[in-house]
Amino acid sequence: MIRYDLKCSKGHAFDSWFGSSADYEKLKAAGMVACSVCGDEAVEKAVMAPRVSTSDDHPLSSPATAAEQMVRELRKKIEANAEYVGENFATEARKIHEGDAPERAIYGQTKPEDARSLIEDGIPVLPLPWSNRKSN
Ligand SMILES: [Zn+2]
Repeated sequence: MIRYDLKCSKGHAFDSWFGSSADYEKLKAAGMVACSVCGDEAVEKAVMAPRVSTSDDHPLSSPATAAEQMVRELRKKIEANAEYVGENFATEARKIHEGDAPERAIYGQTKPEDARSLIEDGIPVLPLPWSNRKSN
């Protein structure tokens, strides 16, 4: 969940919770983000974002390579459009395949042998070029 401080065109400030920044964009595009005071749909995010590191923070870091950029873009796209199911990936993928869970895009972690058995059962899985595992 993400909290945005929002402001309508008449200057009313209010805040609202969204599932993700993608959810906010979707609702906003559908005209469903409205001022809680006057109902104005011309709502903008007030400038109060969580700390975002800029290049100024890391003057010595080298620019990302094209491959790193691509992975980053892909990751953004997947994280915006797919549901994160964590360690339950294999179970959930199988449920979706068998119609026991709603059809949707998911991502998460699975053991190599589970991934192999999914593929053997004709369930499409794709390894992601990054790890969601915590490094501990
Ligand atoms: Zn307003």
